[in-house]
Amino acid sequence: MIIEMRTGATQEEIDAVVQKVKSFGWNVQLNIGTEKTVVAVLGSNTGQVPTDIFAVLPGVESVKRIMKPYKLASREVKAEDTLVTINGIEIGGRRIVVMAGPCAVESEEQLTEAARAVKDAGASILRGGAFKPRTSPFSFQGLQKVGLELLAKAKAQFNIPVITEVVDSRYVSMVAKVADILQVGSRNMQNFTLLTAVGKSKCPVVLKRGFSCTVTEWLTAADYLLAEGNNRVILCERGIRTFEDSTRFSLDISAIPVIKKFSHLPVIVDPSHAAGHYSLVPAIAKAAVAAGADGLLIEVHPNPEKALVDGLQSLTPANFAKLMEELRLIARSVGRYI
Ligand code: PEP
Ligand code: MN
Repeated sequence: MIIEMRTGATQEEIDAVVQKVKSFGWNVQLNIGTEKTVVAVLGSNTGQVPTDIFAVLPGVESVKRIMKPYKLASREVKAEDTLVTINGIEIGGRRIVVMAGPCAVESEEQLTEAARAVKDAGASILRGGAFKPRTSPFSFQGLQKVGLELLAKAKAQFNIPVITEVVDSRYVSMVAKVADILQVGSRNMQNFTLLTAVGKSKCPVVLKRGFSCTVTEWLTAADYLLAEGNNRVILCERGIRTFEDSTRFSLDISAIPVIKKFSHLPVIVDPSHAAGHYSLVPAIAKAAVAAGADGLLIEVHPNPEKALVDGLQSLTPANFAKLMEELRLIARSVGRYI
């Protein structure tokens, strides 16, 4: 349920509404907009109480039930776009934020080369997996703690924020010490214990779409982060599983305008995991920017042929630099910039 306060409602009126809500044992999230305050009422049985109980309170303009399964991620609760700021870099505004780097951190030399290349080409955030969620237990699982240390080094050397994946709720605080953005991977989108821990950390987070999940399930998963008071949530479309097997996954390009319609959260696109092949990445990345994505997450490796993970879909530094030039033109044509 959402309770919309009148423009100019007093603090006492807002407090009285919050008190009343809490008297039912429910939680509240206040959304103080530029014009109005919206009180989001969070509880499992709010449907059993008539809305009039709140509608009659002084300062209340309207009371609406949110019929969608997701609440805090919805535009009904927050009409204005959410901007997530990381070290002064705004995600969800006019700028298209490019995050790039290797799938996995493999060595100091590899990460240093990748960081230099992506920064020189204009990426503003360095990606690199230290903990890798692999389909097979026999595949390389990442350098883990050593990988985090290498990320911390590269971050300091190149003065660039980093995004890295967290796969286990027990490691959230350790990873968050290095990460400027925590990545929750596709396979963990519905790992609710992990989402709650990441929510509690208050660290900015990229929530990747589960490859077998609907947009509704994805936004409902985002509610787990938002419910903990972590508002710095960025969604990432990375392709879904369909019958089509000429690409690794099928990028759901329509998810971008759909998210923009139903949610206030920024949405970025990972063309690398969708494509599965480096030759397809540029076209998909450009399409994503044209369709309104707020950023991109792209795999770049100094020597893709030697990569331990995802070499086939990784761009060389030269191909990445070329793509960045092309993306600048697309961004400009849709009133944005990189
Ligand atoms: C990744 O970004 O390295 C990754 C594992 O992606 P996804 O979770 O989308 O498969
Ligand atoms: Mn990868």
